[in-house]
Amino acid sequence: MLPKPIQQLIDEFAQLPSVGPRQAARFVFYLLNQPKEEIEKFAKKLFILKKIKYCAFCNRAMEATATHLCEICKNTNRERTAICIVEKDTDIESIEKTKRYNGIYYVIGTEDENRQLARLRNLIERIKKSRLRQGSGGQAKKDLNEIIIATDATTEGETIALYSARCLDELKKIYPQLKITRLGRGLSTGSELEYMDEDTLTNALLGRK
Ligand SMILES: [Zn+2]
Repeated sequence: MLPKPIQQLIDEFAQLPSVGPRQAARFVFYLLNQPKEEIEKFAKKLFILKKIKYCAFCNRAMEATATHLCEICKNTNRERTAICIVEKDTDIESIEKTKRYNGIYYVIGTEDENRQLARLRNLIERIKKSRLRQGSGGQAKKDLNEIIIATDATTEGETIALYSARCLDELKKIYPQLKITRLGRGLSTGSELEYMDEDTLTNALLGRK
């Protein structure tokens, strides 16, 4: 029997995605063998998670010191004519790396279906209430013209994608030119955005329809 605090920590680590009890134990014993200052540093970084805020528009995690919008949503050079729906923050990182997309994002999360649906409804309501437009002053304004559904090519991802497309369809009444697209299916089934190499993801983006 392991001492209770060690076992409890192992159990915590074992709850992380893709971590089994053996690996969890390896993590804990690794930490245990670190100098006390290192353990403290690690714990402090974990503690900071409590202070993370979420972007008021796209739901992306951001530093507590930031304003209510994240760097991407705040950036006036990003086009407001396209929104890319992703499951998680790390998917944004992957798409950003391809440098083939200059619109904004919306994170629907992976936690549970109800929460994803609530976020989707939230997005639809917001788009309805305030028209998303590009351009200011004398410039001709451009309306939102594309929503890209960039979910994983997994069973869960497919389900959300189909459901999202159905929900988003009602926006076509307000934005008749709106296209609702999905990533090109050069992707093999089962592939998750975060494990995709840049070329594959670039092709998927360019081949969206
Ligand atoms: Zn944002």
